[in-house]
Formats: sequence, C-alpha cells, structure tokens
Amino acid sequence: MSSKFDVVVIGGGPAGYVAAIRAAQNGLSTACIDAWVGSDDKPSPGGTCLNAGCIPSKALLESSELYHRARHEFSTHGIRLGEVGLDLAAMQARKDAIVSQLCGGIQGLFKANKVSSLAGHGRLLPGNKVEFRPHAGEPQLLEAEHVILATGSVPTELKSLPFDGQRVVDSSGALAFSAVPRRLGVIGAGVIGLELGSVWRRLGAEVTVLETMDRFLFMADGQIAKEAERQFRRQGLDIHLGARVQSGEHGKDGVRLRYDDRQGSHEIEVDQVIVAVGRRPWTDGLLDPLAGVALDERGFIKVDEHCRTTAANVWAIGDVVRGPMLAHKGSEEGVMVADLLAGQYGHVNYANIPSVIYTAPEIAWIGQTEEELKQAGTAYKTGTFNFAASGRAKAMDQAAGLVKILADAHTDALLGVHICGPMAGELIGEAVLAMEFQATAEDLQRTIHAHPTLTEAVHEAALSVDKRAIHAINR
Ligand code: FAD
Ligand code: NAD
Repeated sequence: MSSKFDVVVIGGGPAGYVAAIRAAQNGLSTACIDAWVGSDDKPSPGGTCLNAGCIPSKALLESSELYHRARHEFSTHGIRLGEVGLDLAAMQARKDAIVSQLCGGIQGLFKANKVSSLAGHGRLLPGNKVEFRPHAGEPQLLEAEHVILATGSVPTELKSLPFDGQRVVDSSGALAFSAVPRRLGVIGAGVIGLELGSVWRRLGAEVTVLETMDRFLFMADGQIAKEAERQFRRQGLDIHLGARVQSGEHGKDGVRLRYDDRQGSHEIEVDQVIVAVGRRPWTDGLLDPLAGVALDERGFIKVDEHCRTTAANVWAIGDVVRGPMLAHKGSEEGVMVADLLAGQYGHVNYANIPSVIYTAPEIAWIGQTEEELKQAGTAYKTGTFNFAASGRAKAMDQAAGLVKILADAHTDALLGVHICGPMAGELIGEAVLAMEFQATAEDLQRTIHAHPTLTEAVHEAALSVDKRAIHAINR
C-alpha cells in the first residue's frame, strides 16, 4: 500500500465514508481509516449510523410496529389472527443481518471506487501526516494533501447514573436487549428516548420517560409537539416533563431513580434504564496537540461554513462539528468538502436540513417553527390539514396528526413545514425540495398531487395557508 494519498479521511461513518467515495469519484487517491469493529470482531465501516444508530433503530422500529399492529390493529381491518407471539431473538437477528449487509455494502463501494479502506485508528500529526494504527500490526505513517476528520460522536453519560451496560444502558445497549424489560426507564425525551422507548413499549415494556425540559420536544413546532405528546401518552408512554434525575441506586431487582419536578421529589423503580440525554463529539486520541486543530468550548472541532478547521488543509465534518447530529447533514458536508478539494463548487444549505423522528406517528419538519417566527418578528401565514380528513390515511387506519405550513405573509415564501402523521419522514421530502427551490405556498397549491395519497395532506395544508382548502373548513 502506498503511504501517500491526496485525501485521508479519519472515520468511516456517513460523513467520512461519503466524503471518501466522492473524493475518489473526483479522481483523488483516497484512504478511509475506520476503527469500528462489528460483533463478529471484523471491521465494520458505516459508523454509528449503520452499526448502532439510524439503521438498527429503524429495523427494530419497523418490526415492533408490525408486532404492535398485528396484535392491536389488524382486527380493525377484519384480519383475524391466532395468538401473535414475539420471537425477540429472530427480531434482533434480522436487525443484525441488515446492519452487516449494509456495512458490507460500504466495503463494496470502497472497492468499486478504489478507496483504500484501512481498519484501525487514525491520529492527525503536524504537517498533514496521519498515524494509522491497524487493529493488528505495526503503526504506519501516511502523508496526505488533505485530511478530513469525521470521527463522530458518543453518548453523553450522566454523572449520577453511569452506564454499566446491563441495567443502565446507552442507545447501543438498548438496541441489543435480549429480553423485553418489564419496567423500562428512559431518561431524555429526545429523538433516541422516543424512538427506543416506542420500540420497547410496543414489545410490552412499561415505559416511563423522564425529561428535564418543561415543554415536550422543545426543538419542534409547538403545535406539532403537542399533538405528538397527546398521541404518545395515549399509546401508554408515561412521560414526565420538568423532571430532573437526581440519583439512581442499584438494588436487587432494578434501579431506583430519584427525580425532582415542580411537584416535589419522586422515586420510581425500573428494571433497566436507557440514558438518552444527547451525544458529544468524539476526538479522543485523534489530535496531536501540535497539529493545530482547535476545539470549541463544547469539544466540537472548530470549522467555518465550508468545514475548514484551524489547520491548513485539514477539514472536519459530521457529528464532530457544529450543527445537528444527523447522518444526512454529515454526508452532505462530506460531499461538499470532497467537491471543494477537487476544485469544484461545494455548499451545504444549513437552513434546509430536514429532521425526522421515526415514531408512530412520525414527526418531521424543515425550516422555522411558529415559535421561532414569532420570536424573530416575522409576519407569517399558517395553513394546517388534519390527516383525519385524508382518504388515504383513513384507508391506512393511520389518520392521527396534521401537516402545518408556515409561509411569509408578504412574499408567500415557505418558511417551515411541520408534520406529525403517517410517513411524515417521506412526506417531508416534498417540502425540502420546495424550500430548496424557494417555492411559495402558491407553488405547492398549484402542484398536482396524486389521489388518494398522503401527499394530498401537504397540498391541502398549502391551500389552507390562503384559506382555500377544499377538504377542510377554512378558519
Ligand atoms: P459516526 O457515524 O459516529 O462515525 C464515526 C466513525 O469514526 C465511527 O465508525 C468511529 O468508530 C470512527 N472513529 C472515531 N475515532 C476514530 C479514529 N481516531 N480513527 C479511526 N476511526 C475513528 N441520524 C439520522 O440522520 N437519522 C436517524 O434515523 C438517526 N438515528 C439514530 C439512532 C441512534 C440510536 C443514534 C445513536 C444516532 C442516530 N442518528 C440518526 C445520528 C447519526 O447516527 C449520526 O448523526 C451519524 O452517524 C454521524 O455520522 P458521522 O460520520 O459524523 O459519525
Ligand atoms: P436529544 O438531544 O435529541 O435529546 C436529549 C433529551 O434529553 C433532551 O430532550 C434533553 O432535554 C433531555 N435531557 C438532557 N439532560 C437530561 C437529564 N439530566 N434528565 C432528563 N432529561 C435530560 O439527544 P438524543 O436523543 O440522545 O440523541 C442524540 C443525537 O442523535 C441527537 O442529536 C439526534 O439528532 C441524533 N439522533 C437522530 C435520530 C433521527 O434523526 N431520527 C434518531 C436518534 C438520534
């Protein structure tokens, strides 16, 4: 193997592997170093996303939702089943197979694009040199014209409740339970708490969620968050807001959690706890102090809007830099940097990054919330449409939730689209494209949407912005 490359990427998650593939497509000789090792002790590029994040969580969300629907909803469709049983080992094996297929796919893509895939740790040294320590064998010194840092993030631990991998687990532990906990505590009603809390509730756990903020899903539009909260409570998630966990004591049968809220001090006992209070950037062992790469006060690698770090020809992308910790955000940064390195145009529109929470109903949004518009003093118009009036949602028996569209009161430009409902994560794609092309609410109104589809709810919400909805009373 040559030790000289145009580009060395450290980290093979959705930010790093995408950057490596695009750099190679652009004709640059590229290596990607990744440290992840799968459960079979073999290298497993794909990062958190493929190994322990987006993909395994969605596999379990899908399986657990089907189990739930078979038990509780198929009868509504006139489908009679015998007793529906759970084979958790098979469910987990399906998830693991998907992960290993997709991680194997990354290896295949590296090969096809002639990216040198290096399994082990990378460390940035001064002068664009990288020390590569393979999982087995001697360290090697690599030289690169450009280095891209993409080492991702790790779960944040609570001092009062450290992870023990058994009773107190992070998201990786919660994706690998071999039995359904009877009483499950979830600390943090963020994306992970809600997605994984939903998985285990559907599979039979009693789930108690403790969230420190007073407002449910504070980052989402208030009206959408309220609707989602209503749905989740109705499903049986026991959500406590304004709840600050003070301590967790391990007992014989479980963990006793003490938390304070406005009503006072409370205690609950659970069998297992998922701590999902956010993630932090991961740079341990990555940077030689003389390499010249600065971190910000929260430990993220400092970058400009094009992901340049404070060191010449060193770039950083994905969860390890500012911005939302989302796979698609990291991937787009990877594409931007790889294109810039090849002398091409590169840009990420940070204002237009969609967010999706894959619960049932799903929650998805893009752009500004109504609260943000109010705070900024922007004059806006609002249109909403309830899935209860959507023929397709009714046919699916998934008619909870709504689409909400916010448009500029003067220019009619779309400012935000917020959805709580069936397939919201797919529906938001139309809004992303519309906003990327600077569409107005009228543009959406004049776009033909197939009948009967869920997309008609987006169309009707756009019509409702100007009080012209056909299938709803305009107020
Ligand atoms: P990572 O995916 O974390 O990859 C970094 C890689 O770098 C890892 O393989 C790591 O081993 C490697 N590495 C670290 N240090 C070194 C080193 N020194 N040398 C070599 N290799 C190193 N996001 C979404 O957009 N949609 C979702 O549905 C979604 N679901 C999620 C569910 C869960 C349970 C979790 C935990 C996260 C989820 N995320 C989701 C977030 C998403 O996984 C991250 O935003 C994304 O993986 C970040 O990509 P990255 O490439 O920056 O880092
Ligand atoms: P998060 O930031 O989404 O949510 C953390 C929640 O924990 C917040 O609501 C916060 O107020 C609460 N919290 C913090 N400290 C607490 C405490 N001491 N007690 C109780 N509550 C506390 O973080 P997460 O759910 O851990 O997810 C981490 C990252 O992974 C997120 O940034 C997210 O973008 C990404 N992710 C994305 C997806 C997706 O896109 N569908 C899925 C999973 C994870």
